[in-house]
Amino acid sequence: MRKVGIIGAGQSGLHLAIRLLKSGYDVTIISEHSAEDIFNGPPTGATYLFSDALQLEKELGLDLWHNTACHSTGFNINLGTPDGNYAFSINSSTSKPGVSIDQRMKFYEWIKLFKENSGKFIVSNTVPSDLLEYTKQFDLVVISCGKGPLAKLFTRDKAKSSRETPARKLLQLHINDFKQPDTTKFTSITLDAVMGAGEIITAPFYQKDHIQCAFLLIESVPGGPMDIFDDIKSGTAYLEKVKEMIRELLPWRYEAFENAEIIRDDAFLYGSFVPVVRKPVVQLNSNAAVFGIGDAVILNDPIVGQGGNNATKMADAYAKAIIAHGDKPFNVDWMNKTFDDFWEYSKHVNRFCDIFLSPPAPHMLDILGAASQNAEIAFDFVNGFNHPPSLFPWLDEPKAARQYLASRMKTPEALSQNQ
Ligand SMILES: Cc1cc2nc3c(=O)[nH]c(=O)nc-3n(C[C@H](O)[C@H](O)[C@H](O)COP(=O)(O)OP(=O)(O)OC[C@H]3O[C@@H](n4cnc5c(N)ncnc54)[C@H](O)[C@@H]3O)c2cc1C
Repeated sequence: MRKVGIIGAGQSGLHLAIRLLKSGYDVTIISEHSAEDIFNGPPTGATYLFSDALQLEKELGLDLWHNTACHSTGFNINLGTPDGNYAFSINSSTSKPGVSIDQRMKFYEWIKLFKENSGKFIVSNTVPSDLLEYTKQFDLVVISCGKGPLAKLFTRDKAKSSRETPARKLLQLHINDFKQPDTTKFTSITLDAVMGAGEIITAPFYQKDHIQCAFLLIESVPGGPMDIFDDIKSGTAYLEKVKEMIRELLPWRYEAFENAEIIRDDAFLYGSFVPVVRKPVVQLNSNAAVFGIGDAVILNDPIVGQGGNNATKMADAYAKAIIAHGDKPFNVDWMNKTFDDFWEYSKHVNRFCDIFLSPPAPHMLDILGAASQNAEIAFDFVNGFNHPPSLFPWLDEPKAARQYLASRMKTPEALSQNQ
């Protein structure tokens, strides 16, 4: 039986571990925290999963909150101008529901499942000098340490990384008494963007103490008018400051947040990081190498909610490649090929994130404007969050955008192209 060692018990590591265990592999997870410590630890990123990633969890029996957590079936995107005026909205349903489950509870339950299915779980903070020994114990060592320091062992891939500094500062709160916008009949994800200042994202969130609340994620452009949250220490104080900011910059949205309350004073997360793509392999010596997965090697800003979705899809892709490889050695060529195959998908995810983090190009404004008027365009746009390759090339290229818009709006230009 082939032995796989996985460092880190998070979104990608646990998914991969359980998938391989179910396919008959001998899997060991080495986690810096026990399941109980993860459960009782600080909040992590909200990790809203769109339908394709959720389906991968369902297939493994990991969608344990199907009947209890509020799933979303819609999107409400609102744009405002920096002078405090409302510009327009995009509303659409998604083709299938998605959900956001507190990762602390998710990982706690998944570790339990992993152990019940004879997975080996070791609590230890892996340091670089441990890795060579691990490569002797396992046929394959996968590093799924997220943003942990071990990720720095993987070299930054300059050609694939578009940023040198954080594009946003991130504040996430768990709140109650948030009013869904009247403009939508769906249980929605909402994204309010103020051009040049940042974004406010909310969605239903099933918190680890079984509280159905919402997460509120503020994405502030550093140095801009939303970048006002440094040095605050409590969830309550953060929320007060958020309300002030909304009243000032998005008065047209203030009513929705006016009565919001933080569910616990420590239900917040604040910080920033630089999005990066790293080379997926660390060669320890001429015979030994370790393989990176998830945020350790593809780290995106959460602006369009892709990190956890990507980590899940990457775990699924790696598991399939491991199984297809049979008894052959997991050498560096295999690792690079497995990553490159996944990059064919993820390059669109990364570009999608980068487009949202950048000032909107004229063709992007045309697409957003058209989506506010045309239900088919709104549907295509909103469902692209689930599968970003479907947004390309039209989200990226002015000519492709014109052609796409013309075909959807059935203009004479589109009709003549189709003849
Ligand atoms: C504010 C915020 C909001 C987000 N919202 C979304 C969203 O809506 N949708 C979405 O898809 N994604 C979202 N994300 C991103 C998502 O949370 C991550 O992309 C995802 O969890 C990455 O999975 P991973 O397996 O790579 O790492 P993680 O899930 O972070 O797991 C890494 C694990 O490795 C362990 N570890 C680290 N170092 C070591 C070590 N040396 N030894 C042993 N164990 C170690 C850690 O303790 C951790 O348990 C958000 C992120 C943030 C910050």
